[in-house]
Amino acid sequence: MTAAQTDRLAPTSEKHSKFWQNAHLYFDRVYQSMNLDPLWRQTLSSPKRVLTVSCPVKMDDGKIQVFTGYRAQHNNARGPFKGGIRYDIGVSQDEVMALAMLQTWKNALVDLPYGGAKGGVVCDPKKLSMGEKERLTRRYTAEIMPIIGPDQDIPAPDAGTDAQVMAWVLDTYSMMVGHQALGVVTGKPVTLFGSVGREEATGRGVMNILRKFLATQHKTLTDVRVAIQGFGNVGYHTARLMAERGAIVVAIGERSSAIYDDGGLDVEAAARYYREQGTLKGIPEADQITNSELLTCQCDVLIPAAMENTLTEEVAPHIQARTIVEGANGPTTPGADEILRENGVTILPDILANAGGVTVSYFEWVQGLDNYFWDMKRVQDELQRIMEKAFDDVNAKADEADCDYRTAAYTIAISRVAEALRLKGLFP
Ligand code: NAD
Repeated sequence: MTAAQTDRLAPTSEKHSKFWQNAHLYFDRVYQSMNLDPLWRQTLSSPKRVLTVSCPVKMDDGKIQVFTGYRAQHNNARGPFKGGIRYDIGVSQDEVMALAMLQTWKNALVDLPYGGAKGGVVCDPKKLSMGEKERLTRRYTAEIMPIIGPDQDIPAPDAGTDAQVMAWVLDTYSMMVGHQALGVVTGKPVTLFGSVGREEATGRGVMNILRKFLATQHKTLTDVRVAIQGFGNVGYHTARLMAERGAIVVAIGERSSAIYDDGGLDVEAAARYYREQGTLKGIPEADQITNSELLTCQCDVLIPAAMENTLTEEVAPHIQARTIVEGANGPTTPGADEILRENGVTILPDILANAGGVTVSYFEWVQGLDNYFWDMKRVQDELQRIMEKAFDDVNAKADEADCDYRTAAYTIAISRVAEALRLKGLFP
């Protein structure tokens, strides 16, 4: 590695974004307490490969616009790289590197045979027409083609992307290799041999984890009032599944607005309105609140399911929820994490709570490689089994080490990846 590369990847460099630094703070905090060989620290905390691509796309007005894209591959000691593709105006190299690292820990924690990766394109997906989005996706896929593949790196949906985007990834890759390669991407439409249950899987996993945690407190979902930040794939399905099981969903928010009803919101009515209007602003059945009022509203459980760094040191002291379930990746900054723990708030961390999506992606990959497809019951049962086992592992580690759930989850995940590295040794 050259000096310039070392500097670029150094975790604490001032040049790096807060999110990248935060991902390292969480890693370092646990790694230092683990009695592991310090030699592996840099290997475990640096991405193995980061590809930056520029994607020229013909826009509907005939002009050419060049979009920047990334694919960060963090670690593959336990298997092929795996992680989502994000379309968002805030995407950066640091962001995908941090998300790829989190993905390594998440995949190890739920014991999937994968390493961690993440990709993204700097764009505002809401401002792209379908045709522009398709051309961008095909070009981005062609650009990252040398490093993806069913045995190398398997993308999936993340914020701003969906099953349609994954269908274009599948088609572009398949056209270029000359045969349909179902295993190259997950989160595909079910008619293109995606898995049933994948779309709701992250929300279902969030629900599974919260239900297991509540059982340790002799409670059920019917005992809790829930506020959810973010009303996209993760936020919507989480809200729906919670409400169906009797939880009272008092607040829901999206990027530009949030709503509140003390007696419980009608999640399906809000979802219909959001789909039609693209915002929750102006919805007649609920009170409008601000995004920060949502985070600090009176509720038992707060579920950040939007973006990273939304629970900050500023807002943390005012949070009334006693339990936080991280549906998003990296929503809580380390400073906020400390304040919340000191205030006795239990945090069910992202690498545990939102692992349902990648778990059903794993089922989809297995089904695609086998060309044999499961029914919904099997997907839901197997997802529940894996999520509950991961919760039990984390809960047992937290008891044994007398630590919080994030520390317990990181300890399990890092030791699994470190052990794989140790057993494989160095090449050459
Ligand atoms: P999405 O694009 O479907 O939805 C994002 C939602 O968050 C939208 O409602 C948007 O308006 C809202 N939002 C964005 N920025 C916000 C802000 N600053 N404040 C409040 N609301 C804001 O994305 P998604 O797929 O639901 O992903 C959400 C989070 O969950 C991301 O962190 C993603 O990495 C993580 N995640 C997603 C999956 C998955 O399967 N989609 C799996 C694991 C983790």
